[in-house]
Amino acid sequence: MKTIDYIYRFDPKNTSVKPAPLDAEHAKRELEVGNRMFADWMNSCQIGSLSPGEPRYVIECTGLNFGHTPTGDDVPRQDPFAIVVGCSDARVPIEMVFGQGFNELFVVRVAGNVLADECWGSIDYALKELSESVKLVVVMGHSGCGAVTAAVDAYLDPKEYSLDSMSLGVKSILRHIFVSVHRAAMGFLEVWGPDAPSSPCYRAALIESAVCLNAASAAHSVRAANDRIRHADVRVLYGVYDLRSHHVCMPPLCTHVPERDTLINLADAPKDSAEFEALAREMAVRLK
Ligand SMILES: [Zn+2]
Repeated sequence: MKTIDYIYRFDPKNTSVKPAPLDAEHAKRELEVGNRMFADWMNSCQIGSLSPGEPRYVIECTGLNFGHTPTGDDVPRQDPFAIVVGCSDARVPIEMVFGQGFNELFVVRVAGNVLADECWGSIDYALKELSESVKLVVVMGHSGCGAVTAAVDAYLDPKEYSLDSMSLGVKSILRHIFVSVHRAAMGFLEVWGPDAPSSPCYRAALIESAVCLNAASAAHSVRAANDRIRHADVRVLYGVYDLRSHHVCMPPLCTHVPERDTLINLADAPKDSAEFEALAREMAVRLK
């Protein structure tokens, strides 16, 4: 391990504005390239390959994006190119994970990346009021999610795991996740067979699958809502951030897959329940 620097670089001699992505495909690539930079930097730090004093993770910022306007008496206009819905988990800082700086992401964070009313309000606001700049909506879950883990444990053991000990707010979060946990469980029954719940690795697999399905489910809901209000040029994607590899990937790679260190990918939101159910089965196959 080496000392590492995370740098926001504002060069006053360089006033050029970083070009915004022209369309959804460019925006997707911008996030994936940013995540690649972040993951490579994190992993190179761990193996100690950096030269002394050499920063590898530099976010180039234009002064315009944090208020250094030519006249000095104006504030920058908000113009993110993506809306990102992510978990509140402190280990998953959204802008950093995607290598983005000021005024590039409109971030909605809530435990379990569930879509409560206030989250919908934030998304609706951004889709409507920031439509000139927004090209993407991304829902990002993450491995080891505490909210999904709690939902899985409550699903597996509702009697022992007393919901009475939880606040109404926590119960509300878990209720949003139960649908994905149930669908994941159905996938394991279909693929692993009726004895799936008695497998010693069932709980861990159910958590991993439910994390993916929970992100996919939220992305599907956003996609359906977006189709209804005819923001046809906005693409809805989802992915899962891996706490170990630091990659955002969908579908996630199991630990035994050799390409684990090379794949970064955001997937399109399921368009209907059939695709959602197919994903549950695919996860069960991958985790077998
Ligand atoms: Zn989480």
